[in-house]
Amino acid sequence: MSVDRSTIWPYRDGEPGEFYYQRYGHPTGVEAEQRLGELDGGHAVLFASGAGATTAVALALLGPGDTIALAEGAYYGTSVIFGELERWGLRYVEFDQTGAPPDGVQLIWLEAPSNPFLTMPDLQAAAAHPARVLVDATAATPVHLRPLEHGADLVLHSATKYLAGHDDALLGAVVCRNEDDAARLKEFRTRTGIVAAPDPCFLLLRGLKTLELRVRRQTESARELAARLAEHPKVQNVRYPGIGGLVSFDVAGADEARTVETSLRLITNATSLGGVDSLLESRARWEGDRVPAGLLRLSVGLEPVDELWADLNQALARA
Ligand code: PLP
Repeated sequence: MSVDRSTIWPYRDGEPGEFYYQRYGHPTGVEAEQRLGELDGGHAVLFASGAGATTAVALALLGPGDTIALAEGAYYGTSVIFGELERWGLRYVEFDQTGAPPDGVQLIWLEAPSNPFLTMPDLQAAAAHPARVLVDATAATPVHLRPLEHGADLVLHSATKYLAGHDDALLGAVVCRNEDDAARLKEFRTRTGIVAAPDPCFLLLRGLKTLELRVRRQTESARELAARLAEHPKVQNVRYPGIGGLVSFDVAGADEARTVETSLRLITNATSLGGVDSLLESRARWEGDRVPAGLLRLSVGLEPVDELWADLNQALARA
């Protein structure tokens, strides 16, 4: 495994070979797409970021006048993208993903589990709907969920998170059941230039080698921390879906959330999730009153669980 950073490859006997110009494709990207495609059981297409992947799905697979049914409480940035695209005639409605999606939509957008409320979608109800179904499985990862096996047509990942796994690569991916969707997304990617560069693709390939080990350990620690948080007198509403490394919980309000954030010693107070280092942040700073003022999202890393608990405990004691 090595990175080929060329933007050009010479023609052979006057003809372009498999690779000729990086925007159309490069060896590290193709290798990473093959590997991710195997993990999810479909055809993977990489993008410059998860948000880029979301934009590509909306613009390449839908048209003006189409409506997306978006899971309520899904990643805030996804609704921001769809709001931006309303100017181009795309509409979206939010619905409770634990039940059946509404009629009259062309794409159902689920999130497993939703971030930061951590609900799981009713995949069976969505698969029974005539519209295409996409599952953003960023937080579940293929270790816990392979949505194509449950009737989904498309899987989206912010590969920035668990798949690359070390907070040093920005990348997105769509894994398609259908080869035609993958071909259309690649064509759209090349034309618009929202491509994944070779270096992040290399970091993704390296991250995928340890994905299962990391996610299993993070899940074990998250389960344990969720159980301990549920017993803590200063904590309410512990949300943990039983899989993955994300836990969210509420402290009394904004001041208490700020105190916890600024009292941490081991856990980093930063946004994002899915890396080897544990991160915690108040989501109200980004999402306003969509979330409780005291909601804290914890992304559990690979540190020893007792050390993580000791840090949470001392920070909560000050709140
Ligand atoms: N989907 C989910 C569930 C996310 O959490 C994020 C980012 O936080 C995205 C998509 C967007 O991905 P990116 O930040 O790689 O653009």
